Amino acid sequence: MVDTQTTSERPHVAAKRYIYAWGAGTAEGNGNMKDLLGGKGAGLAEMTLAGLPTPPGFTITTVACNDYFANGKQLPEGLWQDVLDAMKQVETRSGKGFGDPKNPLLVSVRSGAKFSMPGMMDTVLNLGLNEETLAGLIALSGSERFGWDAYRRFIGMFGRIVMDVKAERFDEPLEHAKAKHGADAKDTDLDVADLKALVDVFKQVVREDTGRDFPTDVYEQLDLAIKAVFASWFGKRANDYRNSQKIAHDLGTAVNVVTMVFGNMGNDSGTGVAFTRNTFDGTNELYGEYLVNAQGEDVVAGIRTPEPISQLKTEMPASYDEFLKIGRQLEKHYKDVQDLEFTIERGKLYMLQTRIAKRTAEAAVKIAVQMVNEGVITQKEAVERIEPAQVDQLLRPQFERKALAAAKAINTEGLNASPGAAVGKAVFDADLAVEWQAKGEKVVLVRVETSPDDFHGMAIAEGILTARGGATSHAAVVARQIGKPCVAGVSELNVSYATRTASSSKTGMGFKEGDWISVDGNTGRVYAGALPVVDAKFEDQPELQTILGWADEFARMAVWTNADKPEEAAQARAWGAHGIGLCRTEHMFREGDRLAMVRGAILVANVATRAKAKAAAGEALNADETDAVATFDAAMAKLEKLQQGDFEGIFKAMDGLPVVVRLIDPPLHEFLPNLEDQLVKVTRAEEHGGASEEDKILLATIKSMHEQNPMLGLRGCRLGIMIPDFVKIQTRAILNAQIAVRKAGGNPIAKIMIPLVGHVNELKATRTLLAAEADKIVAAAGGVSVDYKFGTMIEIPRGALTADEIATEASFFSFGTNDLTQMTFGYSRDDAEGGFLLKYVEDKILPVNPFQTLDDAVAGLMKIAVDKGRSVRPDLELGICGEHGGDPESIHKCEKVGLDYVSCSPFRVPVARLAAAQAALSTQHDK
Ligand code: ADP
Ligand code: MG
Ligand code: MG
Repeated sequence: MVDTQTTSERPHVAAKRYIYAWGAGTAEGNGNMKDLLGGKGAGLAEMTLAGLPTPPGFTITTVACNDYFANGKQLPEGLWQDVLDAMKQVETRSGKGFGDPKNPLLVSVRSGAKFSMPGMMDTVLNLGLNEETLAGLIALSGSERFGWDAYRRFIGMFGRIVMDVKAERFDEPLEHAKAKHGADAKDTDLDVADLKALVDVFKQVVREDTGRDFPTDVYEQLDLAIKAVFASWFGKRANDYRNSQKIAHDLGTAVNVVTMVFGNMGNDSGTGVAFTRNTFDGTNELYGEYLVNAQGEDVVAGIRTPEPISQLKTEMPASYDEFLKIGRQLEKHYKDVQDLEFTIERGKLYMLQTRIAKRTAEAAVKIAVQMVNEGVITQKEAVERIEPAQVDQLLRPQFERKALAAAKAINTEGLNASPGAAVGKAVFDADLAVEWQAKGEKVVLVRVETSPDDFHGMAIAEGILTARGGATSHAAVVARQIGKPCVAGVSELNVSYATRTASSSKTGMGFKEGDWISVDGNTGRVYAGALPVVDAKFEDQPELQTILGWADEFARMAVWTNADKPEEAAQARAWGAHGIGLCRTEHMFREGDRLAMVRGAILVANVATRAKAKAAAGEALNADETDAVATFDAAMAKLEKLQQGDFEGIFKAMDGLPVVVRLIDPPLHEFLPNLEDQLVKVTRAEEHGGASEEDKILLATIKSMHEQNPMLGLRGCRLGIMIPDFVKIQTRAILNAQIAVRKAGGNPIAKIMIPLVGHVNELKATRTLLAAEADKIVAAAGGVSVDYKFGTMIEIPRGALTADEIATEASFFSFGTNDLTQMTFGYSRDDAEGGFLLKYVEDKILPVNPFQTLDDAVAGLMKIAVDKGRSVRPDLELGICGEHGGDPESIHKCEKVGLDYVSCSPFRVPVARLAAAQAALSTQHDK
């Protein structure tokens, strides 16, 4: 990339080209060079190339950072000489001199990795100041106050960021100085005498804490600052952040050295941060805030409460118009909403940063649709741009409206910084939040303001509440990014870390640590207690539906749903499911008084089944046997009728779409009481005068069914082979339901799925039995044609490995990846997930929990099965019905394996639709 981009060649001495400069309308780098220049450097170069006003500067590349570490934390050969040359160029372009007492050039030193990273080094502003250059700055600006303010800021920042002095060491004297001007005094109340005194104190602090004097040589300042940026790449916060966001550790950070421009040169100056569209709700308007007579960090740090950007229109109309125009230009250029930083120095606007804006899920979806309508991006780009997690978030619960209306908020004002409803116990520090959460508590993190040090607490909290900071504060930005509800800047809230309480100065209401609170990230309100939450409505989100409609066009795989009940099926259908990929029939055996019926049947099932075989062979039955058969058949007949009703409901809800019905799957003992409970019951009863005959028989039956390893026991198709009536009545119920629905004018499509097949003969035997049963019913219905097919679930490794044999008996496969994962790994899921798997994932023995994200070896087995199956039956229909069907990463793997559809729980259907489209698009790109 590098070689094609460089236009102007600056001579350099280092072995590699480590520096790319910009300014005076030209740039050596450009916006595509994020790998090398980091996001900030690439953006500055690109803006310069686009003719936008940027202060001259240069970027030291990420490669230089990596070489610095490879070189034992020494600047690589020749780099320093190149820095000096680049500084010369900046001097020429800015018309100022670095360290020149008459006309001093000051610079900011800014870190900038490829991905924007909280936890990286903060920016050092005003670098290049010492007693001599300060005099020059004062002379040039004509303001002694401005000069001393810049100087004390520089010492504080440099001391903290580069020299590792604790922030409090500077904050305390600052607060102290402000206090002299009253309780509510601001930084701007400090006069020259205060600032001079502060500078002395700050220098003293540096001497005490570092054992050396504050550096006065401007090149030494620059050298130390560059090295501090490099060092911050491997700082703890940055490491933690990269781990949590899965960012590679070897990317390195770039360093940007930028001519200082001053937003604090009076009331015709200012600084701000703005998004080209509203990144909270998606409205197409400039969205942001600014401060008059302030330096950049003041806005971000939330020290003074900024004005909304709309105010700039009246205060500095020319700058506002120019900024608006620049914003539009950058949006068109980057084809996305931009997050901009600007400074106005005595009426002249400078652009300091542009990057793709982070946004809420709601804004993401709305803006994508807007931009398609404006012709800025294509439908495909819109679909690729939305993250599956954002779709998920839009369907997350909200506070129940009535309860919300009835509740009285603790606060009168607060910023709705990140949407959603959070309920949890208030906790005032991040470590404690993590501790409580580990004990199973739900927590809301409450802070005056957050910093990168709070990230671990924010990551596990239900929501975040801060008393200070605006829409661009750390809390707000991070919360939006990690999808947590957040209310920020509740300035009326007095948060006391000492007493672990918070209360509103406006309403007098409050809470203490451990109290339940409810945080509404949609409105900025906070409530005492735990308000009820309700599901979000898909129906009320037209833009989301539009995006998913486009997604369906690009997807190759269809999205079906796992639904056992008509209501679930209808729900999933409304959310865009194109069929049922798994209808489990177990609950049909459990509900209400059916369970008693089923238990009665199970007790006699074996005797009755054997008796029937005898009778079929022409042998006579004894009285017990005849009884058993009668009891069994009566129960089965009742169940059949009830199941038929269930299936009718499902077929109606999914009219015209396929319904995969899985025949009975779990081991029968799941329908009986637990062995220990029954044993205790009978033993107790025996002690007190005798147990009932029924209970004793039940106990004996449970004992006889006891298995060492039920997961590998009598279940799935094995059960149907041992006691054929269970699956026979299910098949009859399905067919009769179809006939009934068909007669009523419907179009039921059944796919009868035989589970847990490992050998083709299991399938063949079951299928032969059931096909005969189905034929009888169809014949009896006379003339009514119904659409049904038999297929199987591939969930045993042997099944996958012999899929070519199995496909001769199956018209479809559905991958049951829960069992397939269990059996491929040899883990019992129920035991593993609560136990050793946690450690496995933590210690990286496994990269992920394979029950959440499809393992590659399991996907490999699927691929074998797909290829073998299709080799004998090209029209074999292939899907997945394990829980992986709703996981975006697994969906990508399903696309690669070549499935026809994924099936997932109803509430995952919208996410899966997007993921299926993205999987198809990225697979196309790969080709
Ligand atoms: P971050 O990565 O935290 O956004 P930045 O490097 O963008 O850090 O800088 C922090 C603040 O300092 C921003 O408000 C930015 O606009 C301001 N800033 C950075 N460089 C300059 C400069 N050369 N002149 C004026 N303000 C600057
Ligand atoms: Mg910035
Ligand atoms: Mg299974």
